[in-house]
Amino acid sequence: ERVLSGEASSNDVSFEQSLRPQSLSQYIGQDKVKSNLSVFIEAAKMRKEALDHVLLYGPPGLGKTTLAVVIANEMGVNVRTTSGPAIERPGDLAAILTSLEPGEVLFIDEIHRLPRAIEEVLYPAMEDYCLDIVIGKGPEARSVRLDLPPFTLVGATTRAGAVSAPLRDRFGVLCRLEYYNDEQLTDIVVRTADILDTEIEWNGAIEIAKRSRGTPRIANRLLRRVRDFAQVRADGVITLPLADEALGLLQVDKLGLDHIDHKLLRGIIDKFRGGPVGIDTIAASIGEESTTIEDVYEPYLLQIGFLQRTPRGRMVTHRVYEHFNLEVPNP
Ligand code: ADP
Repeated sequence: ERVLSGEASSNDVSFEQSLRPQSLSQYIGQDKVKSNLSVFIEAAKMRKEALDHVLLYGPPGLGKTTLAVVIANEMGVNVRTTSGPAIERPGDLAAILTSLEPGEVLFIDEIHRLPRAIEEVLYPAMEDYCLDIVIGKGPEARSVRLDLPPFTLVGATTRAGAVSAPLRDRFGVLCRLEYYNDEQLTDIVVRTADILDTEIEWNGAIEIAKRSRGTPRIANRLLRRVRDFAQVRADGVITLPLADEALGLLQVDKLGLDHIDHKLLRGIIDKFRGGPVGIDTIAASIGEESTTIEDVYEPYLLQIGFLQRTPRGRMVTHRVYEHFNLEVPNP
């Protein structure tokens, strides 16, 4: 299991539950998203209406699920949680929708993975709070409209481009979550350490933050590993030298890159003179799927300016040469 993965592992689930911020004020960062949402929430509450449907998108581990729960809490309603792949038949979705209480939040994670036939059940539900159900078969068949309570759909996706246009158009509020900066991640690490009753020095928290790839889930996971190390090898306090040593043992470098990132970047430098080189060629040369590279490894490398996408393929930037202490080649 990759310690730097933004995806939740089975280990993370119960641990993360206790760390989730419950209100907008506890939710660190994403200021633009928060200030927009707080206005919409306030207005919906004043009108005593359900909040408009919200689509949250961004890489894994940035706080989409957390934000869905926060929205429900701020609205003072319950949240029902499901995911695109979990809904197999239109009837599954109809059962969930008809069991909602007025104003409740329905959270659908990985909403881009909803089958098309099920998406179509959602359209009238989102637009008019109703379901169109076909009863009977053949010439006897007729369609019946069923009213639903007003509700808020919160959808989350890591791939906004994969959400169909008709579905996307039915969301009133679109929120793109951004990678967190080091300061925000430091705040998250300190907050988590406090919840875990772990003593941490500010410099230690900054060091963990810097290596967390802009992602709260990774920050919390690294903190947990460093905490183990602090308990076993030291007096339990997370200092800068201790964090540095522990993260070194975990093979997470100063910028939050691990051996897979190194293999990818060094591969482009050593085998393709820094690129440009096509994604399929890179994938074959390091023995990974090209979709895995695109979805999992590449986004952060693009984000920190280590990789560039060009029409002729991927290129490493001069920063990579500097990071590896290599001479930057002449163009
Ligand atoms: P996603 O649904 O985008 O994959 P999650 O909402 O599950 O991400 O967030 C992963 C973990 O990161 C959560 O358990 C939470 O503890 C932490 N987290 C995410 N966003 C924040 C935030 N803004 N402030 C504090 N902690 C956060």
